[in-house]
Amino acid sequence: SAAALVLAGCSSRTDDTSSGSGDEAGFAADSLVGVALPAKTSENWVLAGDLFTEGLADAGFESDVQYAAASGTVADQQSQIQSMITKGAKVIIIGAADGSQLGTQVAAAHEAGAVVIAYDRLILNTADLDYYVAYDNAEVGRLQGQALLDGMAAKGEGPYTIELFSGSPDDANSAVFFDGAMEVLQPAIDSGDVVVGSGQTDIQQTATQGWEAENAQSRMDSLLTSSYSGDTQLDGVLSPNDNLARAIITSVKADGRDIPVVTGQDSEVDSVKSIMAGEQYSTINKDTRALVAQAITMAEQLQKGEDVEVNDTESYDNGEVVVPSFLLPPVIVTKENAAEAYANDPTLGPLTEG
Ligand code: BGC
Repeated sequence: SAAALVLAGCSSRTDDTSSGSGDEAGFAADSLVGVALPAKTSENWVLAGDLFTEGLADAGFESDVQYAAASGTVADQQSQIQSMITKGAKVIIIGAADGSQLGTQVAAAHEAGAVVIAYDRLILNTADLDYYVAYDNAEVGRLQGQALLDGMAAKGEGPYTIELFSGSPDDANSAVFFDGAMEVLQPAIDSGDVVVGSGQTDIQQTATQGWEAENAQSRMDSLLTSSYSGDTQLDGVLSPNDNLARAIITSVKADGRDIPVVTGQDSEVDSVKSIMAGEQYSTINKDTRALVAQAITMAEQLQKGEDVEVNDTESYDNGEVVVPSFLLPPVIVTKENAAEAYANDPTLGPLTEG
């Protein structure tokens, strides 16, 4: 069990060797591990908080799990992290509210001897970040781009007209998702097989501030008015996550249109239902249980003074350093493979077609 592992680890401490990527000296098995999460902008964050509280306790750690109150309130998260440092946390796991505004706190944590792990979202422009644990976000984007093309091809011949949405600009993942999707979509746009109806193809134009559904819905409303008057058909929409996908579908339905192929991410309960009902086309399965478990494994390895296991040391450059990462593989889910994908998911499985 996890507790047994932690106890065994007490006798295997190593000397404090400075490896440049974290303090590998080990520390007391009941140390404090801080977890600072962003606002609850999607179900994965809600679930992560509960799983961290449970999982860290099971592993024998003391824990302090906090959420930023609302998206855009960076100050909130900054002071939560500061307080974890003051309380003597040995590991601080951060799902950044704003990936570019935590440099000071990450430096302070490092200075105080805590190891900092970026969880799900990269923390930018700091050499003090020790590790990153996430689903491979670039791959998430590529899978979304490919699903959009596949979904439209299944419905008929091109050329296809699409619109593009991206996530919140303060989340470092947003650009990674978007760039991954554009890697797949750009060749089709260049060849003329895919046309962006509004012409809005850069990330500033497509951004969804705060990952807020209402912002995506109102942008979709305006796009339909400005670029889809008369019977201009909209074949597909690149949506970076499920919450925004459902808002986009709401907008299109209100306009009395056929639902285009809409992508998503997160396997949210309502989106999986929508997929089974033939509305939303795809989502991405990034099992939060596996990601939280990996983050806790990292904390346990640090506690025991072992090397922290990573599997990628080249993909995630935060502007200062390439952050040693443990990346998990995201899985694309459509109506075709949903039952199989969620067979072991306590919230979603077993599924039946609606
Ligand atoms: C996460 C997504 C989530 C989004 C909004 C991103 O950083 O990777 O899973 O949909 O934040 O909460």
